[in-house]
Order: sequence, then C-alpha cells, then structure tokens
Amino acid sequence: MNQNRTSAYSFFNCIEKNFDKAARFLSIEKGLLEQIKACNAVFRIHFPVKIGKEIKVIEAYRVQHSHHKLPCKGGIRYSIKVNQDEVMTLAALMTYKCAIVDVPFGGAKGGIKIDPQTISSENIEKITRRYTSELIKKNFIGPGIDVPAPDYGTGEREMSWIFDTFLSLRSGDVDALACVTGKPVSQGGVRGRKEATGLGVFYGIRELCHVKEEMDFVGLDLGLIGKKIIIQGLGNVGYHAATFFHEAGAIIIALAEREGAIYNEKGLNVSKVFLHLKNTGSILNFPEAKNIENTEKALELECDILIPAALENVIHRNNANRIKAKIIGEAANGPITPEADEILEKKGVIIVPDIYLNAGGVTVSYFEWLKNLSHVRYGRMEKKFSENMNAELLQVIETICNKKISKEEKKIILRGPREIDLIRSGLEDTMINGFHKIRDLKKSSKIENMRTAAFVLAINKIIDSYEKLGIFP
Ligand code: GLU
Repeated sequence: MNQNRTSAYSFFNCIEKNFDKAARFLSIEKGLLEQIKACNAVFRIHFPVKIGKEIKVIEAYRVQHSHHKLPCKGGIRYSIKVNQDEVMTLAALMTYKCAIVDVPFGGAKGGIKIDPQTISSENIEKITRRYTSELIKKNFIGPGIDVPAPDYGTGEREMSWIFDTFLSLRSGDVDALACVTGKPVSQGGVRGRKEATGLGVFYGIRELCHVKEEMDFVGLDLGLIGKKIIIQGLGNVGYHAATFFHEAGAIIIALAEREGAIYNEKGLNVSKVFLHLKNTGSILNFPEAKNIENTEKALELECDILIPAALENVIHRNNANRIKAKIIGEAANGPITPEADEILEKKGVIIVPDIYLNAGGVTVSYFEWLKNLSHVRYGRMEKKFSENMNAELLQVIETICNKKISKEEKKIILRGPREIDLIRSGLEDTMINGFHKIRDLKKSSKIENMRTAAFVLAINKIIDSYEKLGIFP
C-alpha cells in the first residue's frame, strides 16, 4: 500500500498521533510520556545467506519498544515489505496491547525482509536459524529478556527452529522452552495458541454486540446471530475469526484475499470456502459466490461488521467515506489510518481497536510462557481431582433427589478441565474484562472513542509500573 497516497503520516506517526490524543486525558509530565512513546532499542542487521549458488544479503530487525516489564514480547514477521518504521510501530502496539489485557510484558517485534512464498523451506530455515543466532549474540532473545512469537508470514515451524537454535547455543538452560511462543504442542507449545488471536477477535466483538447501548447507537439488534460480516485476509487470524463467527450464527457475506474477494448475500459456508482455497490455491470461483476482482471493493460492501485481518493502512482517506460497516473490528495491526479514523468516527462507526481486539494471541502466548516456566501441562494436577469431586457431588445430588442422571449427562458434568478448556476460558475472561475496562473508562472519562480510551488505559498501566519500579515517582 502506498503510504503517501493513503496517509500523511508514517506508520509510527499514526501510533504517536493516537497516543497524543489519549495523553490529553491524562495529567502526566511530558518527559514521561515521551519515554513511554519512544522505542527503547532497535537492532537492525544484515547477514549473508547462501541461496542456491548466490550469496544473498538479508535485512532483519528486532525492536524492543518498552522495558517497563520484562521480558519483551512480540511476533516476528516475514514479508518483503518489512522496514524499520513498521517494526518499530508494531513493537509499540505490543506494549499497549499487553498493558490492556494485563499481560506482564514490554512490547517488541521482529521482522525479516523476505518473501517466504518465493523461498524454499530449507532456505527459510537457514535464514531463521541465522537470525536467531544473531539475536542470541546481541542478547535480544531469552525467556527473561525477549520472547518472539509468530506474526505475518511465520508460524509453528519457524518457532520450532528458533527454539532449537536457542537450545543448541544455550544447552542446559532449563527454561529454554520459554524463549519463544507459538511452538507446536509437541515442542512445548500450548493447546489453543494457533486460533487464539481469531478467537480473541470473536470474543471481543461478541461482547460489544451484547451491549444494548452500543447496538442502539449503531441501530443493530443485540447479539451476533444474523449479523452480516465481511472479513478481509484469510491468514491464521482471519481464518479462525471467520470460523468462530460462522459457528456462532453470524452471516459471513464476503471474504477478501490478495487475489480478489467472494460475495454471497445469503452467507458463505466458511469451511467449504477453505476447502476450495486448499484445493485450488484461491478463494475465487467458489461455486456458491460471486467474484469481486478488485479486492479493496469488498471493504465497501453493505454489512454490519467489517473485520480487516490482514495488513496495515487498508482503510485510508481515499476509501473511508465509502465504508458502510457499522462496526469495524481491527483484527490486523493498524488497518485504519488516522485520517480514516476521523472520517469513520464522524460517520458514527464503532471501531474496536487493534490494541485490544487482537490481543488474544499474546494473551495465550503468555499462558504458553507460564507453562514452559512451570514445566507442567495445564490441567495435569487438577483434572482427575475435579472429576472425582464432581462424581462425589453428583452422587449426593442423586441420593437427595432420588433420581438417576443419564450416562450422557454424567459425561458432561463429570469432566475435569483439559488444557484447551483452561486456555480458552482464560482467554475469554481476559477479552471480556478488557472490553469492559475500556468501555467503563470511555464512559467515566467522557472519551470520544474506544481507541483513545484503550490508549488511556494502557498509558495509565505503564505509568503505574514505572512508579512501582521507583522510577519517576
Ligand atoms: N504477533 C502477535 C501479535 O501481534 C502475537 C505476539 C505474541 O504472541 O507475542 O499480537
């Protein structure tokens, strides 16, 4: 996306602008605000990797935005568009995100400027391992220092390579598993991490749709059932969000990808679309939908909820006026430019901001990190105990009521918590709490929108940690 065409601001300036809007509601010394805003450390590196017969110079970054809590935390992005401004901005967003959902980390982000679609997996492995050893050399990775995770263009496979490289250079470190999150379950990952961001998006929007005052404001009925939704971007986040919305009874009327979009007013069967995508390599020409060649046009269709789940700056000053959604849920990081934000606010659109809505990923990363440090699977200690307790309780109830409960019902009631149950309930609770904290603050401080309220909440939390650290009393 051409930055100049879509916004007068750099990506980092966009976040600064949002930060400054929030700062108006706080009486905090300017120097302290400047310290919170600035990126603490930027590590930029070039390293050579032999690809085929050629030596290629790879450009890569790790940015630690804030050290007010340690370790730093944030994903690693593989994309040809990676640049310092982008990585700095995404690192800053991580700081605010973690503060909002009470995840005790400072924000960080990494990026490697490559197009993973055009590079063999052997070479991606080579690049990932070399990048990791550069991070180790500079002390930019470690369970208590800085903990990467997946982001755009990376996933479990890359996280495994990072862990393996770390372990081979830090053998004997009993906490080595906690040096990276988003690992496969067989490599110390946690059940539920893969779908966590998409599920968090679902929980956040569901919560909004259950608040009558908010729904009255945009003229919609309560609840998710029957709401018309458009999702842009079918990567890990968009895919899972689409699935959860579909299962909850919402109508996915359009799905947009790089190559184009598909539309069916009556609703798309999400799992069938994904099967079609898997078989043909594209969402286009799905039998039960119309193709939309210009994918950007899909954002402008009539709908209740629009979920941009791909990259930054997709809603900008040139298309904001044509957006018809009543609610926009920012599943991606920074999908709306400041100019577009103002236009949409005037139109009365509710924007659920990225620094809250896509925090599900880092929330479950936090659970994975805790699991790795405690060296025990969630539920291992209490599952059987809960089942025994439930059985005893049920027996008492059966005796008192003189009634037998069926085998099927018993199975449901007796079940103790598995890891996935605990992870999902922890995530659900986090997203519900986060939503109401932002909304309460928005109301009590008469803040104009959720984004500014979310920033105020985050800044307050960070200031609190600085004060507790004894810095800036
Ligand atoms: N990359 C994800 C994000 O932007 C997850 C970060 C993490 O789990 O540390 O929130």
